[in-house]
Amino acid sequence: MSDTDRKNPGDEDAPGTKQTGENTCPTCSGSGRLGEKPCPDCGGTGLITAIVGDA
Ligand SMILES: [Zn+2]
Repeated sequence: MSDTDRKNPGDEDAPGTKQTGENTCPTCSGSGRLGEKPCPDCGGTGLITAIVGDA
């Protein structure tokens, strides 16, 4: 597995997958932190990979 395949729990699909885009993490509101800890859903980036699609 390469770094580009890495997926955070809050990601809806793996980064680089078709019809996905970066979105603000709803869990931490893009801050990347949840209280004293890095947000577990986005891995502390504040961004998640969301499926955007066409439908
Ligand atoms: Zn987050």
